[in-house]
Amino acid sequence: MRVRLDRTMCDGFGICAKHAPEHFSLDDWGYASMEGDGSVSAEQRDGVHRALLDCPVHAIIEMGSERG
Ligand code: SF4
Repeated sequence: MRVRLDRTMCDGFGICAKHAPEHFSLDDWGYASMEGDGSVSAEQRDGVHRALLDCPVHAIIEMGSERG
């Protein structure tokens, strides 16, 4: 699984960082940035998937159908 974050859509709800703190960090205003290159390990998959589903503005996007 691989995701990307569209920071232009992020509205600073901070939900992603709660579900997957290893993948998303928040700046001082609560806006998210993504850690790493978007590859999600098997262990992190659930948290990242939750973040993806729960992001109110759908700023987290699953990439293509690459393996993993
Ligand atoms: S959950 Fe969505 S809107 Fe909220 S901080 Fe993360 S990317 Fe931004």
